[in-house]
Amino acid sequence: MYSRKKIQEDIPEVITKIWSCQSEDCNGWMRANFSFDHTPTCVLCQSPMTSEERMLPLIVNMNDHVKLSAVVTTAE
Ligand SMILES: [Zn+2]
Repeated sequence: MYSRKKIQEDIPEVITKIWSCQSEDCNGWMRANFSFDHTPTCVLCQSPMTSEERMLPLIVNMNDHVKLSAVVTTAE
């Protein structure tokens, strides 16, 4: 029997490039797959952000799936 929890544990984690807020008091971060041309500022506190890599479950890619389905819809 497969419970919902079991399925979630099977989601692989991938190394994901992110921008992380430099402020000690702020947990702000964002995915960096489209914004490496310049250093962004944190949307929460306007501090500079630094490039990091973090292990994130694939489910974080949900926005990419949305874009992908949008492309497929356009192709039809
Ligand atoms: Zn911040």
